This record gives sequence, structure tokens and C-alpha cells, in this order.
Amino acid sequence: MAGEPQDDCLFCKIVEGHVPATIVRETESTVAFRDINPQAPVHILVIPKVHYANAAALATAEPTVAADVLRETQAVADEEKLESYRVVFNTGPGAGQTVFHAHAHILGGRGMQWPPG
Ligand code: AMP
Ligand code: ZN
Repeated sequence: MAGEPQDDCLFCKIVEGHVPATIVRETESTVAFRDINPQAPVHILVIPKVHYANAAALATAEPTVAADVLRETQAVADEEKLESYRVVFNTGPGAGQTVFHAHAHILGGRGMQWPPG
């Protein structure tokens, strides 16, 4: 689902300024903020301001904003001086998605294992 802010969506509340977050970057269409439970020395989330349930919905419904999100992951990595980093879109509960507003995780500042768990 997309469009109006969803009353029960934590990340819509962050976009609206109703829930505090450590915002590191903002554009017309995106917000980037530090993850509250970091899994790496750098762990930042980039979200579209408009609500989409996950990356699949974002990519099919609004590819321009999807590109904005991806561009912002690189801008964040540059600001954080990350040469290597991982971008993750957990999509669906089986993949570990817990907040159903599309978001890219940017993880960096430590070595990474592959495959992920
Ligand atoms: P996912 O499990 O992929 O849906 O990722 C959701 C992420 O949101 C998790 O890494 C959480 O730690 C993070 N998170 C949950 N609440 C907040 C919050 N209030 N501010 C920042 N990050 C949050
Ligand atoms: Zn939302």
C-alpha cells in the first residue's frame, strides 16, 4: 500500500517528525537515519517518504523513488567514508522484515560474512 502516511507505521511517524530519529540526510523524497539497534559500526536506514510496504512494492509502483533511495545509499556511504558496505532490503517476514515501510539498510565499518544468515 502506498500514499498517505499509515497511522500504525513507525517509519511514517519518523517522516512526519512524530517519532524522534537521528537523521543523517534528507532529500525531497527520502530520509536517512541511524538504526536504533545497530548491527555494525555504521548502520543507517534509507526510506522513501511515501509509504510502501516493502522494496518490491516501491520498485514496481514508483521506480523513480526507488532510484532515489538507491542513490541515497551511495550518498550515505560517501558521507560515512565507507569503501566497502552492504545494502540490504529485507523483503517479507521470512527474510527478517519487521517494519513494513520500505527501507534500505546500509551496514559498514566491519568485515562481513557471506552468505548472510
Ligand atoms: P527490518 O527488520 O529489515 O524490517 O528492519 C527494521 C529496522 O528498523 C531494524 O534494524 C530496527 O532496529 C530498526 N528500527 C526499529 N525502530 C526504530 C527506530 N525507532 N529508529 C530507528 N531504527 C529503528
Ligand atoms: Zn510507512
